[in-house]
Amino acid sequence: MQQLDHQFIDNCWTPSRGERCLPVMNPYREEAITEVCAGHPDDVDDAVAAAQRALPAWRALGGAERAHYLERFADALARRRDELIRLSSTNNGKVLAEAGIDLDDAIACYRYYAGQARDLDRRQGQLVEVGMEGVEARCYHDPVGVVGLITPWNFPLVTSAWKLAPALAAGCTVVLKPSEVTPLPERALAETALEIGLPPGVLNLLFGDGAGIGAPLAAHPGVDKVSFTGSNRVGEAVMRAAAERTADVSLELGGKSPILVMEDADTEQAADWVVAGIYFNAGQICSATSRLLVHEAIAEPLYAALAVRIDALVLGDPLAEGSDMGPLTSARQRESVLAYLAIAEQEGLLAVRDASHRQLPAQGYFVAPTLFRDVPTTSRLWREEIFGPVLCARSVASEAEAVELANASEFGLAATVVCADRQRAVRIGRQLQAGSVWINGEQLVLPETGWGGFKRSGIGRELGPWGLSAYLAVKHLVGPV
Ligand code: NAD
Repeated sequence: MQQLDHQFIDNCWTPSRGERCLPVMNPYREEAITEVCAGHPDDVDDAVAAAQRALPAWRALGGAERAHYLERFADALARRRDELIRLSSTNNGKVLAEAGIDLDDAIACYRYYAGQARDLDRRQGQLVEVGMEGVEARCYHDPVGVVGLITPWNFPLVTSAWKLAPALAAGCTVVLKPSEVTPLPERALAETALEIGLPPGVLNLLFGDGAGIGAPLAAHPGVDKVSFTGSNRVGEAVMRAAAERTADVSLELGGKSPILVMEDADTEQAADWVVAGIYFNAGQICSATSRLLVHEAIAEPLYAALAVRIDALVLGDPLAEGSDMGPLTSARQRESVLAYLAIAEQEGLLAVRDASHRQLPAQGYFVAPTLFRDVPTTSRLWREEIFGPVLCARSVASEAEAVELANASEFGLAATVVCADRQRAVRIGRQLQAGSVWINGEQLVLPETGWGGFKRSGIGRELGPWGLSAYLAVKHLVGPV
């Protein structure tokens, strides 16, 4: 495996100016696969300069031509599907099905924004109805310029696609910084840019950590917009850096999403959705439905059905076909989740399933899938994002109580309503403070629907036409005719 000590700038692999290196781990084998450079602020200067040089020509291309590149980008990724899924699984600890979703959703996103790029041509110069006679107003959409994209480790291909695809469709040029924890899947994006002949400087990819690349990129005066996905702590630092020069930011941050199960729900079906909502990707999903609010009339049968399903989950080698749940992505993340489980013990939380119920595989950063019931709303496990396979549950006496508790969170990314009466489910969903509310389903994220949070879960929306608008500046030409 090649050492990742070169940056991708102007379609060339250039040695990083940084001297530090970090191990890139296989979280199942607990061994280093390779090393990645930590980066250097000078790398950022070089990449931003390349993106600035590439901007005029890329912006001047029509949307239809940019769409052509995006389609070829998607085709090239699809051709490498098996290899990329295995690479992602190896670096990330995802089981193959989860790595497949990461890649397939990314490919769907590149294709979707090819369509949006074409549509942009049609929308340019549209007449705006104005109340003043003899005056014509037309609306145009310009790219915001050079954009800095910063992504996390949990879904590397999809979180980068949600930014890169609309940014390229809009006519922006890009400096992309993958997480230093999972640089391997996103490295393929640079290889794809070369393969399809994307013009030099349109996509630059910088490996590194927060100090080496992330912070200097967020603060760079040549970066017109920063789009960040990650933790609240870093998101707030990115926003402060952008504020220094009044640059635009989009933030996709943490979550503590609720799943509400009403008394008329089918318990077995509800249990399937609850499991999908929290144990998928070992709970390392911003939109994991990690707070279960179940009507007291069906709480006991639901807990029983969940215990059966949790016991049936196969933890093992992410590359093996039979595995349902892989290890957490890093030793650091495992420590962080284990610290919450220690708090649960100190607080005396009642476990339906915890670590004592399961023998973990001998190797890998595994954490047992865990379910606590009757969790007080004051508990840190109820209030804070854990980002691991830990489900906290409470029973509620009414729909009103379920809605109130669901909304009593500083986050507002997603929510699920499980209810046999669809009209009632929609009524409940309308009251929830969340960017995505799944009605009798889980984790349904489609390119056409927006993605983003209320409250501290973020600012702005990705996906859909809103995801494109995030990279466009609206301009009106107005005057007498
Ligand atoms: P993180 O905030 O630690 O890191 C995210 C990225 O920021 C990484 O590339 C990191 O190198 C970089 N970074 C670190 N310090 C920086 C700095 N000072 N300035 C600029 N960049 C810096 O997050 P993580 O641990 O990689 O990911 C987990 C978090 O991401 C969770 O909180 C999760 O909820 C969130 N997340 C949100 C969404 C969403 O759509 N809302 C999606 C996925 C993950």
